[in-house]
Amino acid sequence: GLHNTILELKGNIRVFCRVRPLLPDEACNTDNKFISYPTSMEAAGRGIDLTQSGAKHSFTFDKVFVPDASQEDVFVEISQLVQSALDGYKVCIFAYGQTGSGKTYTMMGRPGHPEEKGLIPRSLEQIFQTRQSQQPQGWKYEMQVSMLEIYNETIRDLLAMNRSSSDATRLENGSPGKQYTIKHDASGNTHVSDLTVVDVQSVKEVAFLLSQAANSRSVGKTQMNEQSSRSHFVFTLRIYGVNESTDQQVQGVLNLIDLAGSERLSKSGSTGDRLKETQAINKSLSSLSDVIFALAKKEDHIPFRNSKLTYLLQPCLGGDSKTLMFVNISPDQSSAGESLCSLRFAARVN
Ligand code: ADP
Ligand code: MG
Repeated sequence: GLHNTILELKGNIRVFCRVRPLLPDEACNTDNKFISYPTSMEAAGRGIDLTQSGAKHSFTFDKVFVPDASQEDVFVEISQLVQSALDGYKVCIFAYGQTGSGKTYTMMGRPGHPEEKGLIPRSLEQIFQTRQSQQPQGWKYEMQVSMLEIYNETIRDLLAMNRSSSDATRLENGSPGKQYTIKHDASGNTHVSDLTVVDVQSVKEVAFLLSQAANSRSVGKTQMNEQSSRSHFVFTLRIYGVNESTDQQVQGVLNLIDLAGSERLSKSGSTGDRLKETQAINKSLSSLSDVIFALAKKEDHIPFRNSKLTYLLQPCLGGDSKTLMFVNISPDQSSAGESLCSLRFAARVN
């Protein structure tokens, strides 16, 4: 369709900026003249300006979502991209930004507020609905889900408890456990050794797995220094479609990634584990930026191997795959420095 044509003209990488609303406790101490963006969603703007220390920095993205933009407004803009995973494309959607900027809200939504569900549940609803509606044309789909976390360049299987209790025990003990090795086969399929992969038939089943994964993350949270904001969360849906009347086959992948907080912690004198964490996060986020930048420039060498995240996603970032990056921005003045860093990061890959 039209959307795909635009993607091809632009290359397969797009960047959307989303500015979240001020939270109640921020509203009083912010002079929000330092940041400017379109006044409403109808303005359909693409530009955002940020003024810091008297200098104005202007950025243009494929789209800017203003604080008023609803989860539905956002989903409308990505539903075609989600659809293309059913058509056999490999798709990655990332949320990038400092902790508190709205990454998890964008991906998952607000717990207990179904009308504010994020793009993971909305994508799943759309995919399972389409799966249903394409049955009369002879299409049969099999779907598989895996969920993992990359923390300090180490993979953790968030669905391990789904398979064996010994795995879950190992995770709780925080002992080293398995070395999940990543392999890509000739047809571009990724295999992570020992990773739990679950066949799913309905949105409800995936929702259950998501809640299991969330529990598994929060186990780490108390033990490991708010691990959830210090690790990358990777949700992967593999789609195998066969048309029983035409024998046509498609294999698509939808990766939805809630990245670790992009804030720089080095200045606050972090040492030991905290320093190691920060270095691992900086390394993988800058590797991601390097890879997307190299892809956009169509360079010969793409440095996929520089981090676990980029190596894991290699087949879904190169070739004719499709990538969308959300850069999430906090609108309060005390975040201006981090917001500027995030906008610069996103501008580099845009
Ligand atoms: P992050 O995952 O980047 O650390 P969160 O998604 O947890 O940030 O967002 C921080 C807080 O802001 C949460 O309380 C969340 O519900 C709220 N929030 C974020 N984005 C929005 C939005 N677009 N509308 C309303 N509340 C939001
Ligand atoms: Mg989060």
